[in-house]
Amino acid sequence: MTGGNQNRRNAIVNIASQQLQISKQGETFSTEELFRANVFDLREMQKRLPKAVYRSLLRTVESGQALDATTADAVASAMKEWAIAKGATHYTHVFYPLTGLTAEKHDSFLLPSGDGAISEFSGAQLIQGEPDGSSFPTGGIRQTFEARGYTAWDVTSPAYLLEGENGSTLCIPTAFVSWTGEALDQKTPLLRSMQALNLQVQRVLKLFGQETKKLVVSTAGAEQEYFLVDSHFYYARPDLLTAGRTLFGASSPKGQEFDDHYFGAINDRALNYMIECEKQLLKLGVPVKTRHNEVAPGQYEIAPIYENANVATDHQQLIMSTLQKVATQHGFVCLLHEKPFAGVNGSGKHVNFSMGNAEVGNLLEPGDNPQTNMRFLVFCAAVIQAVSRHARLLRAVVASAGNDHRLGANEAPPAIISIFLGDQLTEVFDLITSGSNGEASKSGTLTLGVDTLPRLPKDAGDRNRTSPFAFTGNKFEFRAVGSAQSIATPLIVLNTILAESLDDIATSLEAADGSLDDAITQCITDIYKAHKSVIFNGDGYSDEWHKAAVEERGLDNLRTTADALPSYMDDATVKIFEKYNVLSPRELESRMHVYLEQYAMSIQVEARLTVEMGRTMILPASLRYLGEVADTAGKLKAIGRSLDGGLLDAIAGHVDGLQKTLGTLEEKMAAHVEDPIAECRHACDEILPAMNAVREHADALEGLVADDLWPLPTYEEMLFIK
Ligand code: ADP
Ligand code: MG
Repeated sequence: MTGGNQNRRNAIVNIASQQLQISKQGETFSTEELFRANVFDLREMQKRLPKAVYRSLLRTVESGQALDATTADAVASAMKEWAIAKGATHYTHVFYPLTGLTAEKHDSFLLPSGDGAISEFSGAQLIQGEPDGSSFPTGGIRQTFEARGYTAWDVTSPAYLLEGENGSTLCIPTAFVSWTGEALDQKTPLLRSMQALNLQVQRVLKLFGQETKKLVVSTAGAEQEYFLVDSHFYYARPDLLTAGRTLFGASSPKGQEFDDHYFGAINDRALNYMIECEKQLLKLGVPVKTRHNEVAPGQYEIAPIYENANVATDHQQLIMSTLQKVATQHGFVCLLHEKPFAGVNGSGKHVNFSMGNAEVGNLLEPGDNPQTNMRFLVFCAAVIQAVSRHARLLRAVVASAGNDHRLGANEAPPAIISIFLGDQLTEVFDLITSGSNGEASKSGTLTLGVDTLPRLPKDAGDRNRTSPFAFTGNKFEFRAVGSAQSIATPLIVLNTILAESLDDIATSLEAADGSLDDAITQCITDIYKAHKSVIFNGDGYSDEWHKAAVEERGLDNLRTTADALPSYMDDATVKIFEKYNVLSPRELESRMHVYLEQYAMSIQVEARLTVEMGRTMILPASLRYLGEVADTAGKLKAIGRSLDGGLLDAIAGHVDGLQKTLGTLEEKMAAHVEDPIAECRHACDEILPAMNAVREHADALEGLVADDLWPLPTYEEMLFIK
């Protein structure tokens, strides 16, 4: 037996023997006891801080007031005490660079002093850190000679303790900025955008007589999809290991066509894994709620209860890192890539979004009296206006090399940004704009209120999975986000475009001289009429929609990342980011450059892997088999028999094709393109198709070459053996 098969069979045998041990690990636990056990949150602070200090901190968290140094010192000391009592030896400022990952720099609590080491951790250290960080991408904002970047404590996101086998680390969420104060991370603009949104929401609420002293925040809950594969297979596949997705692989005889995985009983090994993830996440204060199988075999989902968008974003990063960490402990690898397996559903991350606070409630929740209904309709109209005006930007924030394999591929929403409102809500808007205030017909629940607005549906009713941006009862769900992405950028954009939309609405309503009811009706009517073309309740996967959206409605269909990313520099985008102090034009442009670069680099790595695996794994196996078949053909001829079915020709044909396409791919890779946008286009239009051409021959060969010679774990093995 040769190498290829042995590796694969051994892997399968190893997996089978591991299964028995792993499936014994599940233990019961009490959610209540675990939840927030390792979080230094307001509850913990209230217990440990003097009353005045606690109140001062609360003012910062709830009303956005600046933090003073005395408070910081007191919090630092309480935080350190808490962490050390729980076994912490180190602390780290956690920050979120533009790579979408989470970065940490660990420091010991112990500082040397005159007569030996003592524990030292001051307010100054809590508030500000100085990681070197010169190798994080900045898109040109920071040269290495001015490499200093600062981390600044984010008071609104609680610190937590990350337990390791050899000690625990106190993790402090921070923002990461350059010495000139420019944002080098995701958190800084997210916090700025939340501030901008709060201001404009408050103006609109004031018109409704609903002033609130507390900050109004955006809320987010992200449903994370992911794949689990056994680590033995993962390590046997250079493409999974390095690119996070398979670059080769013929379809499995059985795929997802039976729909027998979706919401099916969860396999024991996967279930134990999920339970362990949940335990760890609950301890860290992440309110995980649901778990289930997804559509594809080997695919799962985890979703938390929604939180303040800033905290939800930090927690989302913790979810991704925990999923990956726990997987290795269970002999799995968790794949967060948007499309690990061709021909099988990819993974997304639905970002559920709303706004509100404890005093005013959820602003996207239809109420049961005319006053709250009116408020709901205004905020809903604000979303419609924002999404319609900035559809190109919303497309750009979900653009990545991985997500290009999903969007528009009849498994995920199309690259055309539209809004699903549902028939009931659409009817309400139609009624209002037609000037009629009669009863809506489709649902029995719509009746006229005391004022001019019809009563609203209490239940969203219909669900539509094909829309990139859907109203789902009391929130909007942005479904085009990729599974590996940070949710920060989508939230930054949603906050900012809504701030603008609400700003315009507030300005027009404040200027109205007639009755507020009339002004509101007029405002909703104007918005709905101007932006109706973005609303689509039909099948987003259909060809008719793709045609009609572009030709009749004039919506953009930016199919690839190369098409979408340049929208970052659209005039309208530059203008709002600057106007609401979220990103300066320089910060914005630097971000676009980082994303362009990341895209081009991902494709280049994949192309190099394609060549490496093509030349050193697939071609050798195919040549060996070709030689074997040719030998056999000769021997058969000697005894007056022959091979039938053109087997030899088929193998030889694909071996030729493989070599030719590998050559073409190498030529395309050799081209040197300077300009970042052109480089991105080159990767998209030249390199990717050349990679696909190689794959076609390789996958055909997988179906011809003897199984004992094939060097890579197959789709069938990876997707079905758990
Ligand atoms: P589905 O899978 O049908 O979309 P789920 O109940 O699984 O529905 O997911 C709903 C998600 O929406 C959860 O992550 C939840 O936290 C989130 N969510 C619910 N209400 C809000 C809200 N007001 N703001 C933001 N997210 C919300
Ligand atoms: Mg959903």
